[in-house]
Amino acid sequence: MCSMKSIEDIRGNFPALQQNVWGKPLVYLDNGATSQKPQCVIDLVDRMHCGANANVHRAMHKLSDEATALYEGAREKVGEFINAPARENIIFTSGTTASINLVASSFCRKFLREGDKVMISGDSHHSNIVPWQMACEMAGASIVVIPVKDNGELDMEEFHRLLDEKVKIVAVEHISNVLGLVNPVKEVIEAAHSKGAAVLVDGAQGIVHCKVDVQELDCEFYVCSGHKIYATTGSGVVYGKKELLEAMPPYMGGGDMVDTVTFEKTTYAPLPLKFEAGTPNFIAQASLAPALEFAQSLREGEIAQVIEAEERKIIAYLKDELQKIEGCTVYGLGWMQQEGAAEPQWGAPGSKIPLFSFNIEGCFPSDLAQLLDKMGVAVRTGLMCCEPLMTRFGVTSMVRVSFLPYNTLQEAEYFIASLHRAVRMLR
Ligand code: PLP
Repeated sequence: MCSMKSIEDIRGNFPALQQNVWGKPLVYLDNGATSQKPQCVIDLVDRMHCGANANVHRAMHKLSDEATALYEGAREKVGEFINAPARENIIFTSGTTASINLVASSFCRKFLREGDKVMISGDSHHSNIVPWQMACEMAGASIVVIPVKDNGELDMEEFHRLLDEKVKIVAVEHISNVLGLVNPVKEVIEAAHSKGAAVLVDGAQGIVHCKVDVQELDCEFYVCSGHKIYATTGSGVVYGKKELLEAMPPYMGGGDMVDTVTFEKTTYAPLPLKFEAGTPNFIAQASLAPALEFAQSLREGEIAQVIEAEERKIIAYLKDELQKIEGCTVYGLGWMQQEGAAEPQWGAPGSKIPLFSFNIEGCFPSDLAQLLDKMGVAVRTGLMCCEPLMTRFGVTSMVRVSFLPYNTLQEAEYFIASLHRAVRMLR
């Protein structure tokens, strides 16, 4: 792993990428949904199932000690990866959806009152919409939405206009899973704080493509899923500021989250266990340690430059080639849509990640996806759990291709050639 020098070296770590589908080499471009898993993660999961499989925090035996050490070691690793001040800031969940539900339920029970507002970004995934609606319904509060501009960027003028003291929390996407643009979350956080509002950043896509420093961002909550960044499914994180997590009531009750229990009253365990009721998915959480070590190794030294160069080529190539297709609409081009606009710094607000959503006149997205699949190319179609955003752009479905550092320009070229073939078959 440490000697990775090329994209081919990176790919060598992923057994799933070596397979053929329908007799063609797999070109996996559905990474926005979930990443493939590197061998180091597969080995850890295997090792735990074969050796260190015992419930964490509970028993006085070797297997439980080993599992607990791996589980808590992963918590340390997550903290290090996002620069959290302490292990108490890191709550394990089953994924971003569970994380947002935890915060929406618990934060809002404590802090949201009738007449208050929750502000969400217009590019939100359903998991950053529905939990807030549920919380607002309970409290008698309402939702305010930061609109999305035609080029896919958040309308920051409207954001500043809509933000007032009634807003108790702003829940913003770090990167939309449909538009692939880095949102100006630091600006959102500073403005929200000036009005006394907390901020949750949905980092399901952001953690994968941006260096995240929660202390520098100063957000109250940062949430993400492990499975999109090489860990196994069933792993997720809430980073929260300690004073807020301490003030918030537990989300779920049960084993492991208690201090003492009587039939009359329960006192709760200190952070982070207060929010981790029941047997956690400890093997999945433990897999975050090798997963994040792997992700970290791609962000340092020579290989980081190789990846950036390849991603830049992929982005430029796809932007040009998709737009050349007659009747193709590409969503979320951001700065690239404007002639002569200055390119933002790589990874900075406004920059584009290698993720493109589009529609082609005369071709149903699901038909395109099925034909591409037969050519070995895995893409995503449908609402992408963003129905309000689809409505915003006047469509009911899009096709999305999303890349990770193990994808190559050659795969992008094969995808475009396959897309041309599919379009010819459908028109
Ligand atoms: N938020 C965003 C931006 C996402 O892309 C996703 C998943 O695609 C989610 C939230 C939900 O994540 P999960 O399904 O892992 O809970």
